[in-house]
Amino acid sequence: MQGDLMKTKRDFLKTPIEYLKNVGPERAKQIKSELQVSNFGELLNHIPFRYVDKSKFYKTTDLGRFGDQALQLKGRINSIKEVSSGKAKRLTALFSDDHGSIELIWFSGIKWIKPILMEASNFIIYGKPNRFKGKWSIAHPELEKVGAQSSQKANLQPVYSSTEKLGSRGLHSKGIHKLMLNLLQHPEFSIPEILPSALSSKMGFFSRKQCYVHLHAPKTLEQLQKARFQLKFEELFIVQLQILKLKLKKTKNRGHVFSEVGDQFNTFYHDFLKFQLTNAQKKVIKEIRKDLGTGLQMNRLLQGDVGSGKTIVSLLISLIALDNGFQVALLAPTEILAQQHYASYSEQLQKLGISCALLTGSTKKSERKKILPQLEEGTLKILIGTHAILEDSVQFQNLGLVVIDEQHRFGVAQRAKLWNKGKEKYPHILVMTATPIPRTLAMTFYGDLDISVINELPPGRKDIKTIHLYENSRLKMLGFVRQEIDKGRQVYIVYPLIEESEKLDYKDLMDGYEGLIRHFPQEKYPLGVLHGRMKPSDKEFEMQRFVKGETKILVCTTVVEVGVNVPNASVMVIENAERFGLSQLHQLRGRVGRGQEQSYCILMTSHKLTSEGKERIATMVRSNDGFVIAEADLKLRGPGDLMGTQQSGLLNFRIADLVKDEKILAMARHAANELLNSDPNLENAEHKNLNLYLSQSQKIAGWGQIS
Ligand code: ADP
Ligand code: MG
Repeated sequence: MQGDLMKTKRDFLKTPIEYLKNVGPERAKQIKSELQVSNFGELLNHIPFRYVDKSKFYKTTDLGRFGDQALQLKGRINSIKEVSSGKAKRLTALFSDDHGSIELIWFSGIKWIKPILMEASNFIIYGKPNRFKGKWSIAHPELEKVGAQSSQKANLQPVYSSTEKLGSRGLHSKGIHKLMLNLLQHPEFSIPEILPSALSSKMGFFSRKQCYVHLHAPKTLEQLQKARFQLKFEELFIVQLQILKLKLKKTKNRGHVFSEVGDQFNTFYHDFLKFQLTNAQKKVIKEIRKDLGTGLQMNRLLQGDVGSGKTIVSLLISLIALDNGFQVALLAPTEILAQQHYASYSEQLQKLGISCALLTGSTKKSERKKILPQLEEGTLKILIGTHAILEDSVQFQNLGLVVIDEQHRFGVAQRAKLWNKGKEKYPHILVMTATPIPRTLAMTFYGDLDISVINELPPGRKDIKTIHLYENSRLKMLGFVRQEIDKGRQVYIVYPLIEESEKLDYKDLMDGYEGLIRHFPQEKYPLGVLHGRMKPSDKEFEMQRFVKGETKILVCTTVVEVGVNVPNASVMVIENAERFGLSQLHQLRGRVGRGQEQSYCILMTSHKLTSEGKERIATMVRSNDGFVIAEADLKLRGPGDLMGTQQSGLLNFRIADLVKDEKILAMARHAANELLNSDPNLENAEHKNLNLYLSQSQKIAGWGQIS
């Protein structure tokens, strides 16, 4: 009986939209194609993006005082005029209240607007003010005859997104609201509960039905706020539940046991390590070692600001893998970075007589032919490379550990692919990122990973001094660069490279290079140039010249952004800094400040800065802390942008907002955790609906492939 009831309830939400009063097949088609809403449930989730306080009226003289915020006014329509210039027609009307008058304008829909305007004289109008030739006007305002408002109507009028096409069919915001009211008043309207009732009552939640009523037709602000909170919580709770379930499932993967810390680790640690590890590095190594002993697969994210010393951590862990008879793969996002890791790994490992190899897209065939069999036989212990090591032809004898540097460039699918290379058991995964991820995002994106943080820089590091200079201070900047080189330092000068204007950007870079050559005599201040269009071998050659100190200035694009390590470089000049995003600026700045000297980052910009651009530059000048920068970035740009488009599906929340709803997210995660602790498989009768909902709801983008 209960089951049957549930079925009808679910079916109600799946009812095609055309069966709603005042819709029908024609409108249904339009609604579907314009709003991607095809059934009752989807209509309910077409959430108002704003509410107008209907109790508040502005004066005509208020126009312009609130920017282009839409305002509600009450007044009279005095004169109506149809004006035509050539083919274009427009309708204007003079609208006045006790304080003044403004013009209302329509460019389309004149036929049906005109009779409405003629019918009455007192109107409530609503719309965004425009200024044209010194006069204020509102184009295409919403109209309502005074007196037509029913008395029990709420003061908060929801505003829905619509399209021009729908608007011309009477389905602008108000039309949609009318449909919504039809739905809410439908005699069979019901929505199954999904949250466990214990949780709902603990949170003081409405029934879901009531919640949607308050969302679409709120009577008070308090109702509305509570309803919005509840829906956000519900949405975040579901996502967290999915991620945590995945995590539970995955930690069940069997992993290799690295039981001992053997000779190779000890010899290196005691005889060859050039410095003392920081406490943060020690703590992180302990956390990782603990994972490696459990017999379960490790999935750990290692976060540490640029320069915090993640590489040495990965090297030490790699030695533990070797001590236990396993192979290691290290995956880097760019060729340059892979080469650099290879150079530093092989230098260090040489002392122990351990061999490692580099495999990238530009590795020669003959070299590949040598590497691949050695990997399969197990004589080659460590493979470092780019995406090329994900190819099927690359097979290990017994891969025990995968280190992924700068994770944000690798998708989850790639991570999963690597795991398949482990034979019966899964290799341990250590993901390292210097992109400090704000907690909210980390909880969502890396919810399936454990997180370790290196929250301390090696001793003796001085904060990088960041300076903002305008174009006209270029000579000052060049003088400073010369002075630093005279002290024995090296300098990066970075030019932006934005894909859409790639050609122009290369021209900027090369023009800049020519200019610098003229300014700096080459015998004393040799320059190098490095950009993405160069052949890998040329890139490598230029990079090596800079690493060895043969060139003093490296003119480059963001190819140096990630991970490059030249401790003697102490100045980072960023040209057109306003064109870079915050996290990119921070990454670039992280290329200096790696040695003992005071380092500098000089941000060159034009005088034309947007307010957002100004804020970005100011944030950089103000803070050296990657987490502060990341939070600011999230606030300025929103989360979708931060992670690239590939995974942004995960960020398409109906109502929740990762930037603003951090607290709700934390609550939702806590609740999801508690629930899974008490009922890991959601088998209790009381969690039946929730389980059903989870299995029906869309797989979270990207994560689906993991399991
Ligand atoms: P990142 O975390 O950005 O990858 P790296 O691993 O490249 O940083 O380390 C930056 C520099 O700091 C390297 O030159 C490295 O040798 C050095 N380093 C790492 N750990 C320490 C330490 N504990 N003490 C001194 N220098 C360190
Ligand atoms: Mg690094």
